Amino acid sequence: LDEILGMIRSRAPHVRFLRIGSRMVVQLSTRVTAELCAVLERHRVQMVNIHINHPKEITPLLRQRVKMLQKAGIMMGLQTVCLKGVNDSVEVMRELFMQSVEMGVRPYYVYSTDMVEGAHHFIVPHRRMLELYEGLRGWISGPAVPTFIVDGLGGLGKLPIIPSYVREEALPDGSGTTVKCRNYAGKTVEMPGLGQDFSLPSVSN
Ligand SMILES: *Cc1c(COP(=O)(O)O)cnc(C)c1O
Repeated sequence: LDEILGMIRSRAPHVRFLRIGSRMVVQLSTRVTAELCAVLERHRVQMVNIHINHPKEITPLLRQRVKMLQKAGIMMGLQTVCLKGVNDSVEVMRELFMQSVEMGVRPYYVYSTDMVEGAHHFIVPHRRMLELYEGLRGWISGPAVPTFIVDGLGGLGKLPIIPSYVREEALPDGSGTTVKCRNYAGKTVEMPGLGQDFSLPSVSN
């Protein structure tokens, strides 16, 4: 890792942001040693994304090793895979993401389950992912709310799965449209001024 990071830093100055995504920090927390932290700090690795799926995985040892990485000046992020029966519940996700921000780890992405053989029983429907997102946004601290993502479909990269809080509606007198926004609790407000030059890209519902 020392060698690879050294090569990137010396030969690829156009790489401005170096991040490492790994489940190792959770799976084998003792791998995070003082020596490893020194390597990451020396090569100015800006971010380490860890992978936690359930608050039960946050152990005292994990907290301690996360702190070591943070002391090396590393921004910490969290990625989670949405798994049926493991974390497809608003309560579990709220707890996971609040515990995560509490230790200074910013929830970044929630991924849909990869369509891989043997993992079908973990698949959470996209509709449910939208509901889970709605159970977070506005209900817990904003920095604790990650972006929900579907990855690997049609080779299009990451596709955000986020509910729309804005909608365009036809005016009753047929003179045009108005824009309505709703808050996290489902209350709606019209945007007379802000909505004026506002035109939503046409999306079929
Ligand atoms: C997720 C992913 C990235 C990183 O995407 P960001 O949106 O920048 O976090 C890059 N390459 C591949 C293949 C990925 O799956």
